[in-house]
Amino acid sequence: MLVRDILSTKQIGKIISITPGDTVATAAKLLSEMRIGAVIVREAGNEIDGILSERDIVRELGRSGAGCLEDKVSELMTSNVKSCKLTDTTEQVMQMMTDGRFRHMPVVEDGKIIGVVSIGDVVAARIKEVQFENDSMAEMLAGNI
Ligand code: AMP
Repeated sequence: MLVRDILSTKQIGKIISITPGDTVATAAKLLSEMRIGAVIVREAGNEIDGILSERDIVRELGRSGAGCLEDKVSELMTSNVKSCKLTDTTEQVMQMMTDGRFRHMPVVEDGKIIGVVSIGDVVAARIKEVQFENDSMAEMLAGNI
């Protein structure tokens, strides 16, 4: 299964993003309201400046306390964002997430972000794929194929 297939099953609305100059408190509110674990950082409609995950916020809260909620998103975000393509497989994306120790990846096509996949999306797709392979093998063994 490809990233393209995952995106086609998701309700792709607009990409949820925040600007580098917004506060961490605004980002936390957005993550909470949208029930997501990471947000893309960029100026309206522009290319990606970074990604801010709930982990970045919790880590800084633990390190410096609640004052960090007034910091700018640009101070906590990760700038070197790894992205995937529509033609990447679920296995490739899982490997990239495992190697990089992150759970979110923007999908970029022709330099533009067109979606975001999370580890939850990828694992769900992989389970479906494995289930299908198992069912096909069982059918073959039973002589039905
Ligand atoms: P996550 O597991 O996605 O919540 O993020 C864990 C850490 O990796 C945080 O510091 C994020 O800012 C960072 N991160 C999340 N997604 C990406 C990505 N696609 N590329 C690079 N870093 C990321």
